[in-house]
Amino acid sequence: MKLSGLEIFKYLPGNHKAAHTNCKECGCPTCMAFAIKLAQKQITYDRCKYMPEELKKLCQKNIKAPQKTVKIDGLKIGGETVLYRHEKKFVNKTVFAVVLDCKSPDFEKKLERVKNFEINLLKEKIKIDLVILKNAEKHQIKNLCDETVYIEEKDFLKLSLKRICDNNFHKTADELVKIRTKAIAERDEKYSDPVYVYFKSTPDKYGLCARASYYLCKYANMLVFEDFDESLFATLMMLRQNIYTDPQKPLQVEPKIYEFNNPDENSLVFMTTNFALTFYAVANELQHLKVPSYLIVTPAGGMSVLTALSAEKFTAKTVAKTLKKFDLINKVKTRKIIIPGLLAPMKNELEKALPEFEIIVGTIEAYSIAEFVKNII
Ligand code: SF4
Repeated sequence: MKLSGLEIFKYLPGNHKAAHTNCKECGCPTCMAFAIKLAQKQITYDRCKYMPEELKKLCQKNIKAPQKTVKIDGLKIGGETVLYRHEKKFVNKTVFAVVLDCKSPDFEKKLERVKNFEINLLKEKIKIDLVILKNAEKHQIKNLCDETVYIEEKDFLKLSLKRICDNNFHKTADELVKIRTKAIAERDEKYSDPVYVYFKSTPDKYGLCARASYYLCKYANMLVFEDFDESLFATLMMLRQNIYTDPQKPLQVEPKIYEFNNPDENSLVFMTTNFALTFYAVANELQHLKVPSYLIVTPAGGMSVLTALSAEKFTAKTVAKTLKKFDLINKVKTRKIIIPGLLAPMKNELEKALPEFEIIVGTIEAYSIAEFVKNII
């Protein structure tokens, strides 16, 4: 069970006004300050020599990882420490595995499809994580080295993993929540093995995708499929990419001038911040426009337009500095910059800081860019 600062304090001398109350020997000004630091894992329990045995035992239990990490070559399964991503972050991505039977007549064909499958997300090349080989000969595994990890089924079954079958959606979903809650919130060691859901072959691809998506969100450490379907894996990988981000680190792209459809010195110039989600929404629209364009991405700590504006990460001064750095004035003859609609209040300020350019207020939503462009060219 995770201990709060108050729960820890109840055991300390300060709570009973006993000897050594607020003695500062632990380096904290008071017992309460120590309790809060300990709860936040900013200090170790052995810094207080006057801690009762009961609390020591609780702390020792808390130090142990609540969920084990199982490793297959470089692949890590489990090792989660929180129930909700916003509490800290999720540690190891849910692993996607496919079972292939080496004795099946279509084995080679299926294996080729698995090997060739990859998707590119945020410049990351993503492949199937794990292939579990049934009825495999040793030499078959040796010849299979690529980014995907391969394991014989008999070795896979020896790992400390808890298996749940996808027979009944509600039962499976409840079981996953129960196991994760017991492991993390109650620190019950009986539930510390990482969990995988096993999906038997089924013609119902929609149902399979829906259930797998749910288990991915709550709380499967691995999903194992008898079927291999490219669209299913592409969908799940996209979803996984959104869950396994660090909420304390905004997703950002490199600040620079991006080009779409072979622009020249007379092309349109758009501007936004380096928040990844905004960038990809705008970039996707510009890519699909039939007109060439530039997109200036300003450094804003990965913040969205409005957040950057309120945090003073997007100011006329920073924009002017960025354009100078990118040498925009010598790159284009165009003297118009289209800014996001949300930055309309900054138009005058930007024009003062960039006297060579006319500032045009664009759309609030990226999906309206095509319509907007039709009206200005
Ligand atoms: Fe309190 Fe222990 Fe720190 Fe002394 S060493 S202030 S008793 S927590």
